[in-house]
Amino acid sequence: MARLIAFLALLCAFPVQVSAERYFVADQAEYAAAAKQAEAGDQIVLANGEWRNFEMVITGEGEAGKPITVTSEEAGKVILTGQSSLRIGGEYIVVSGLVFRDGYSPRGEVISFRRSKKDQAHNSRVTQTVIDSFSKPDRYESDYWVGVYGKNNRFDHNHLVGKTNKGVTFAVRLDSEESRENNHRIDHNYFGPRPVLGSNGGETLRVGTSHYAQFNSNTLVENNVFDRTDGEVEIISSKSGGNIFRGNLFLRSRGTLTLRHGDGNLVERNIFMGHGKDYTGGVRVINRDQIIRDNYMEGMRGTAFSSAIAVMNGVPNSPANRYVEVENAQISRNTVVDSARITLGLGADEERSAVPTKTTFSNNLLSGTDKGTFIQVDADISGVTLSGNRVLAGKLDSALSLIEVAPIELERGENGLLYPVDPELADVGAPRDLQPVTLDQVGVAWYAKPSDDGPFGTSGTVTQVVPGYDTLVTAIAAANAGDVLMLGAGEYIVERTIPLDKPLTIKGAVAEGAEVAVIKFARPSLLELREGADLQLLNLVVDGELAPDSVGNSMIRTTTFPIQSNMQIEFDGVSVRNLTVNKSFNVLTLGKSSLADRVSIRNSAFADISGAVVAAAAETEDYGQYNVEYLDIVESSFANIGGPIANIYRGGRDESTFGPYVNISGNALANVGKAATNGSGAAINLHGVQTAKLSRNALAESAPLRIVHTVGTPKTSVTDNSFAETPPPLLEELIFDGDPRVDMSGNTFDGAPIE
Ligand code: CA
Repeated sequence: MARLIAFLALLCAFPVQVSAERYFVADQAEYAAAAKQAEAGDQIVLANGEWRNFEMVITGEGEAGKPITVTSEEAGKVILTGQSSLRIGGEYIVVSGLVFRDGYSPRGEVISFRRSKKDQAHNSRVTQTVIDSFSKPDRYESDYWVGVYGKNNRFDHNHLVGKTNKGVTFAVRLDSEESRENNHRIDHNYFGPRPVLGSNGGETLRVGTSHYAQFNSNTLVENNVFDRTDGEVEIISSKSGGNIFRGNLFLRSRGTLTLRHGDGNLVERNIFMGHGKDYTGGVRVINRDQIIRDNYMEGMRGTAFSSAIAVMNGVPNSPANRYVEVENAQISRNTVVDSARITLGLGADEERSAVPTKTTFSNNLLSGTDKGTFIQVDADISGVTLSGNRVLAGKLDSALSLIEVAPIELERGENGLLYPVDPELADVGAPRDLQPVTLDQVGVAWYAKPSDDGPFGTSGTVTQVVPGYDTLVTAIAAANAGDVLMLGAGEYIVERTIPLDKPLTIKGAVAEGAEVAVIKFARPSLLELREGADLQLLNLVVDGELAPDSVGNSMIRTTTFPIQSNMQIEFDGVSVRNLTVNKSFNVLTLGKSSLADRVSIRNSAFADISGAVVAAAAETEDYGQYNVEYLDIVESSFANIGGPIANIYRGGRDESTFGPYVNISGNALANVGKAATNGSGAAINLHGVQTAKLSRNALAESAPLRIVHTVGTPKTSVTDNSFAETPPPLLEELIFDGDPRVDMSGNTFDGAPIE
């Protein structure tokens, strides 16, 4: 009986629990009415279905243990589409279970932890929410997907994938006093693939900005996965002090966690798995009092700004928003194995002349690859105390001649990571108890994480197409993403420009000794690439003899509308001929606001073409933007080509991107680039390309190569080529003060070797 009385007394003491409301809402008007009334402990439930053009707002006074909750009838079944967004003000508000897709935010953010400047969120949480490809259509129009303001907010177990426009995916903002020293917690999120942006502004996570760099953010970023977050050189840009980055997993992600501004940050127990992918890096250290300990890195291939560990030089007496010198950094017990580069004194130049001081680099387990220098020293490192490190393999800078390189035996622990077998080395390298966060511990269980299949042939459907008039047009219109169209011998006449908005393979079915498939197009273009397009051409002939004389003829061009998605374009075993009806008829033209992840031309032949083969030179504003990330032209032949076989332009001084990367190897060029309409005057024109390998090409009676370096440390090699009746390469440095930085070796000019 006493118990019952106590129980009744308890009920009376907490009457609110009884009166908490549950509002079930089916449209925006019902939602608005419920949101207006909601009080602490109330729950608003959105009905399953599509909520189109929904600029959702929630604010109010929840209480600790009695938040105002907004959720979905079923997780993942409330879809916000079109022009939608979410703004949260007030305090103790929890939002969960939403999906944003098939649209974009009309505002500066998709999810904002403030309703207005005066109503910022506190003690609030967004969880179990998906933002999938909710990108503004114009890739250079900027927004954030998530902006966090206020204090004590949590963003956890969310899934963010496929941001294609400019602007960081997730921003912690410090632009008001109430949003500093915020104790936000960002944990267990899945930051999925973010494609190469081809410009600054492709960071996945930024904490602070240079403007507020002197303030502490005190934000915890813990146990998240960053999977293929390739947007630009900074995966995470920490631009404030007092942050903790702990236990995150970086998978196949280009770039680094960069301590760009702000002091006293802690980076510990993170795992970086590069899987040998280009430009994969670890931590870049700038500023004072940074601790980088107990991290594990394997298979990293980045160098310079994407080194596994980079300690930068600073600017003397730098303001907080420039390059503050490294002082009192502690870099200890990290494991860096099978990795390309560690750099001490990175970025040293006339301006960045302040070397690291009072810094320790100790008890790290280090093992390089057999290519290049593993630990590079670019400045005086007398202010860095090295002790207790073990270097297993790799070439060291001469400044480190006292460090011994000696192999030791490693074994994989149960956590999948490498450790020394010798128990005496237990305190060298990352600790044994690291537990890599797994994909099923992050994001949401009910929304699939993207696979890494290529775009082609994924549907498994192969459709035969017979020769004739517009049979190819009909077949392409009917095809699904990932289909293969198989063309038999004969002529395929195409009388309209075919729009392509999906991945597609067009393949000639070549039996031994049989006739091949020949495509003839009777419009200025055969194909126009649109949003969603990827194109693979295999074993075909394309003949331009029916094309009319029209300005801007190009066998393949991009639409004039902006394209969000990065494209892949492949030619293998393709012969292209007779693009001569006017003076600059290109094979492939990538237009403004388009970016190809890869253009690959192999085993192909091009003859009698008045323009360029690959024109990727539309971004001419010198903002550091460009049209192609990787270009491969390999084992192919080019005869009587009026323009360059590759015309690549990346202008300006921005240092935020890795590309373009150009590999032109094993090709034969005869009479290339000599048309009066070829503005570059070159057979191959590379402007601002970051990595260029031109090797084993035979040029005859052609215009010269032209290579112009702009910003950064471009890597260019011109090796083992032969030049017959072709002028020597034109090499130019626009910013660097010195001889052109080009590895020229093994080339012959009219039969004579010249270095
Ligand atoms: Ca940046």
